[in-house]
Amino acid sequence: MAKKNNNGSGSVKCSFCGKEPSFTDILVPSPLGDAYICSDCVDQIEGLLKDYFSDEDAQKALSKSGKGDKSDQPKKDIPTPRQICDFLNQYVIGQDDAKKYLSVAVYNHYKRLAQTRDDVDIEKSNIIMVGPTGTGKTLLAKTIARQLDVPFAIVDATVLTEAGYVGEDIESLLVRLLQAADYDVAKAERGIVFIDEIDKIARKGDNPSITRDVSGEGVQQGLLKLLEGSVVNVPPNGGRKHPEQKMIAVDTKNILFICGGAFDGIERKIAHRLNTHVVGFTGRAERSKIDSDNYLKYIAPQDLKSFGLIPEIIGRLPVLVHLDPLDREALLKVLTEPKNAIIRQYEKLFAMDGVKLSFAPDTLDFIVDKAIEYKLGARGLRTIVETIMIDPMYETPSAKVDELVITKEYAEEKIRKAYIG
Ligand code: ADP
Repeated sequence: MAKKNNNGSGSVKCSFCGKEPSFTDILVPSPLGDAYICSDCVDQIEGLLKDYFSDEDAQKALSKSGKGDKSDQPKKDIPTPRQICDFLNQYVIGQDDAKKYLSVAVYNHYKRLAQTRDDVDIEKSNIIMVGPTGTGKTLLAKTIARQLDVPFAIVDATVLTEAGYVGEDIESLLVRLLQAADYDVAKAERGIVFIDEIDKIARKGDNPSITRDVSGEGVQQGLLKLLEGSVVNVPPNGGRKHPEQKMIAVDTKNILFICGGAFDGIERKIAHRLNTHVVGFTGRAERSKIDSDNYLKYIAPQDLKSFGLIPEIIGRLPVLVHLDPLDREALLKVLTEPKNAIIRQYEKLFAMDGVKLSFAPDTLDFIVDKAIEYKLGARGLRTIVETIMIDPMYETPSAKVDELVITKEYAEEKIRKAYIG
């Protein structure tokens, strides 16, 4: 215990009741060391808090400090894989395989949380999604988190570096999750982390590196610890770990990690593997069955290894799913069908000003054609619509109109001007 009391006279006593150390079991100093509290006063305060708050509030407060155990119980109303998939269908177009795998993985994850200690140990079902940019990887992960109502954080693997190097420490991804959980540790420990661009931390080539690879293999080694489940000390406000900074211990055992990446060029590795395997008597027949337009659907863990992920990481991401490139038809649906489709969002924006907005069907075709032409996938749709809509959004609120139809000619004109300009 500290040697001085709050008036600096040299003797220590409880700042609340004035009790001297000889009359109490323990005197706890305040963090600043200028006040003390005895165990009797602590008991009294605890009693007061219990009387004041309901059981539920007390439980919430306890779990906020990471001590509650009720919130560790899984929710009773866990949706079934079919229900999860139905929910995803409302927001995400296509990607049926990915939806099925994700739904099952998430369902199993929650069953895993429900298991009791003496059960067969169900292993963690972390997920890796491989697919071109703008095909819905982030959207899938976000939608799942929304349905399950758990804290969700997105982090970009490219900013992570090994501890001690320029960039963010690996623990920073837990800081984001803690922030999303409003610093409720128990809640964060059941959350979902989406690690985007995982392919960017692949080591260069299939062989272990001889020189140090601070943003590749080193980061993968660091991530491994998190993926397999361990207690990690997290600096609550992010930044580098400082010896004097108070850390929050976060157990990653029950955090679901979903990784995503475009893995540009992995098709070549898949094709190479398939072509080497399908030789021999049945080779020709087997090879003719392969859909050479979409090699990604045959992706296997060994392709990730050839791309430069270390086997330990691959082993910790047991659910491997691929996403299909979005074709014309899918892009058209992305524009109009999901619950928060881009076109619906603009219709709502205008409706708030009392204007009925609509797009001529050939305008939608034109927008999709441009997205394909610019090779932007679904990501480009929004930019294109925004370019077309900027003037109407500027003018309409001050003009007296009830209805606005965006024709193809108008859209063409806007795009031509914007891009020539
Ligand atoms: P990435 O695969 O690069 O993570 P995102 O999920 O971030 O792609 O997609 C970017 C945007 O494109 C999303 O906000 C969404 O509006 C749209 N989008 C992409 N794929 C789909 C899809 N399959 N269904 C509906 N919208 C999609």
